[in-house]
Amino acid sequence: MWKVVGHEEAVALLSKSMEKDMLSHAYLFVGPPQVGKTTLAMNLAQGVNCLESPSDRPCGECTQCRRIALGQHPDVQVIDLVANASGTGIRREIGIDQVREVQHAATLKPYDGKYRVFIFQDASSLSSEASNALLKLLEEPPESVLFILLTSDAESILPTILSRCQWIGLNHLPLSSIANELQQALGTPPQEAIDLARLSKGRIGWALEAARDPKILEDYAAELERMASLLDENLEDRFAYAEEMATLYARNREKAIGQMKMAVSWWRDLLVLKKGEGEFVSNTPAIEALQRHARWVSSRQVVEAIKMTRDTIGYMEANVNPRLALDVLMLSLPRRRE
Ligand SMILES: [Zn+2]
Repeated sequence: MWKVVGHEEAVALLSKSMEKDMLSHAYLFVGPPQVGKTTLAMNLAQGVNCLESPSDRPCGECTQCRRIALGQHPDVQVIDLVANASGTGIRREIGIDQVREVQHAATLKPYDGKYRVFIFQDASSLSSEASNALLKLLEEPPESVLFILLTSDAESILPTILSRCQWIGLNHLPLSSIANELQQALGTPPQEAIDLARLSKGRIGWALEAARDPKILEDYAAELERMASLLDENLEDRFAYAEEMATLYARNREKAIGQMKMAVSWWRDLLVLKKGEGEFVSNTPAIEALQRHARWVSSRQVVEAIKMTRDTIGYMEANVNPRLALDVLMLSLPRRRE
């Protein structure tokens, strides 16, 4: 049984390819963070190694499926980001040494299962050396090897790598799917499940984590509070925030972009409140600060702030001097006059 929530089209396509024995050597799962890319990749790794008949794979029950789910299968490897020193400091990336290990392992026959599966978390963080080494592997893929690349940002992957992968797009999940899953899998009470699903903005992984660990919601609320306080603060504090965000970006690109997107949703909520549609606010933990600011900021200023924040995300994603882009954003945000 596929464990992934939603993504019916992707599941149907992969099941069919497995049944017909027409799998690609390499897949690229593209979608926003925490929508289920890793879960789907693990399910596919189970599927190709499962002992059941093709139409029932992955069964989730056989020894192969269970060991993969527990992360204890010698033929299934997840290649994660590690901290490496680079020209501009420490950067979390997938480095050349990691891909060399994959190169070596890929030449060996599967040890216990039918396929060796290599799952690359955040493939947009491959260093350029690592990208070139991976490209060589994809150009001449060894037998019985399956590569699964995961990313939320396909544009920053080498085009020659992209052209050798079959793309599978995963989107945000509908609120109802997430709320249902929270209730069924974790027994979350209905109203709480709906609130969390709304806050998750379609990211099932975030919703499940937040339902299990209250600290996630606390941190989230603290981050929203910080954003709200920037509108009261002086320029010095704003530049300090820009510096922090640029440092975070250098260390963990995805997290920094995620926080900026959170800022966009915060501003959008402000607009919703200005229109008197408070029931559609998604950042409910920040409702007090949102109401406080909705009293003085104009709708035009909010629209402008959303645009500026989005542009800044674009500059950051394109790697155009993130610090400068963030400084410009901080200068442009509206400021409460006492
Ligand atoms: Zn199985």
